[in-house]
Amino acid sequence: MSDAVSSPQITDVVIVGAGPVGLFAVFECGMLGLTCHVVDALEVPGGQCAALYPEKPIYDIPAHPEIGAQALIDQLTAQAAPFDPVYHLDQQVTGLQARDTGGWRVTTAAGTAIDAGAVIIAAGVGAFGPNRPPLDGIEAYEGMGPGRGVKYLVHQRADFAGKRIVIAGGGDSAVDWAVALADQAASLAVVHRRAKFRAAPDTVAKMKALAEAGTIDMVVPYQLAGLAGDADGLMAVIVRDLDGGERRLEADVLLPFFGLSQNLGPILDWGLPLEKSLIAVDPATMGAGTPGLFAIGDIIDYSGKLKLILTGFAEAAVAAHGCHKICRPDEILHFEYSTTKGVPGAPTGEEGAVS
Ligand SMILES: Cc1cc2nc3c(=O)[nH]c(=O)nc-3n(C[C@H](O)[C@H](O)[C@H](O)COP(=O)(O)OP(=O)(O)OC[C@H]3O[C@@H](n4cnc5c(N)ncnc54)[C@H](O)[C@@H]3O)c2cc1C
Repeated sequence: MSDAVSSPQITDVVIVGAGPVGLFAVFECGMLGLTCHVVDALEVPGGQCAALYPEKPIYDIPAHPEIGAQALIDQLTAQAAPFDPVYHLDQQVTGLQARDTGGWRVTTAAGTAIDAGAVIIAAGVGAFGPNRPPLDGIEAYEGMGPGRGVKYLVHQRADFAGKRIVIAGGGDSAVDWAVALADQAASLAVVHRRAKFRAAPDTVAKMKALAEAGTIDMVVPYQLAGLAGDADGLMAVIVRDLDGGERRLEADVLLPFFGLSQNLGPILDWGLPLEKSLIAVDPATMGAGTPGLFAIGDIIDYSGKLKLILTGFAEAAVAAHGCHKICRPDEILHFEYSTTKGVPGAPTGEEGAVS
């Protein structure tokens, strides 16, 4: 990642955080004719739902008696899509400055700069990032493709077909992906520092059965000790046992699953009104102290705040109206239902209405 800032892109609203609440804010802004750029430190949209509990069912999303967390994110992304949001993923927002000419400039650790009339901070519990194992030079291998080979998230199994894979970790992610990738991989080793795994017993049993069948090499109790590779990428993972004995595991890919860290980091330095590391907003507007700055979702606090996705959705609607006032000061906003207005590419309710 570079700290050099590129020439700024321009939009109506920058949304910091592509969690469920940030994604719904794209839809609400879009319905009011506002364009959005969305920035997230994660490689994929979805915030806590995607990073912490993608497979879990959620029961309190209105009109969905049950919906998987990842399925909810897929639906929110589809709902936002007609408004063509620009996503800047895998980059943390590091800077937020008021511009002399009005509006805001948002900058990221990857050097992206975006100028906007308004900013909605939907940063949840902070920027998600991987807990990196402390291996010399690991950053140089991060990603897939030439010269790379260390990944912290799996998006699709097909990316790993025919690869020699080493998975490190002893929790649900490590065990789930070991089982899911075993039939795709050229070889698959699981490295864990103890024999016991902290994962769903059924899945651990499946992994052990695959190990007994010779499909998975259980490298326990071992810890990661180093990486070997060249300009073409990763070639091997070096592991060490408690007595210092080393093994070299030939590998194209290392998947370290040591959990995710959460970093509120720069947000705390932006001069926002804070209450115990949460942004204190006016619940009538979701305003965060300065005109053009709004905050919604888990990152905020006000009297009676509920940290629920459905509460965040309503906050997104309120913030979008606030953004409209800032970005289109001369435009009178006539309140309209979505049934009347429709969304781009879909028939309006009026076209389909029975008179
Ligand atoms: C196990 C579990 C189960 C849950 N079950 C439910 C449930 O049943 N019902 C319910 O309503 N809620 C549930 N929740 C809570 C729900 O997930 C949160 O309320 C919701 O995710 C908040 O959404 P958000 O968009 O505000 O924040 P988040 O989902 O936290 O997303 C914020 C995003 O902002 C990004 N970000 C933060 N700072 C930066 C930065 N500086 N630069 C770039 N990106 C940044 C983060 O990487 C993250 O992707 C559950 C939570 C957990 C952990």
